[in-house]
Amino acid sequence: MKINSTSPCPCDSGQSYKRCCQPLHNSAIPATPEALMRSRYSAYKLGLVAYIIATTHPDGAHYQADQTLWQREIQEFCRSTRFERLQVLSAQGDTVVFRATLFAGKRDVSFTEISLFRQHEGRWKYHSGKVLP
Ligand SMILES: [Zn+2]
Repeated sequence: MKINSTSPCPCDSGQSYKRCCQPLHNSAIPATPEALMRSRYSAYKLGLVAYIIATTHPDGAHYQADQTLWQREIQEFCRSTRFERLQVLSAQGDTVVFRATLFAGKRDVSFTEISLFRQHEGRWKYHSGKVLP
C-alpha cells in the first residue's frame, strides 16, 4: 500500500498521515501507548516490517531472536492480510483495547485485543496481548 503525507492516516484516526503516524514511523517517540498502538497498526498496513520489530518489547511474548525469520513472518502477514479498520475501544495507562477488522482473502480474521505496553529505554513498546473471545 502506497500513501503520501496528506493521505488519511492508515490507523483510521481521521487525521492526515503526516499529523498522525508518519512522524512515529520516522522515529519520533510516541507520547502514549495508544499512539504507539495506532502506529503499529498502520505499519502493518503499510508493510513497515522494521518498525514492527523495533517497537516490540524485547521481554515481550512476540519478540523473536531470529530476526530474519521474524521479518519474513511479518512480511507474509502484511502481504496476505487486508487491513480494513481499526477501532480503539479504550486506552488507560499501559493498556489499550482495540478491534482490528482484517481479512485473509475472503476469510474474516478480525479480533479484539487487550494490548499491554511497557517502557524500554525511554520508549513505549508493545509487550504482549490477549485476544478476547
Ligand atoms: Zn495514525
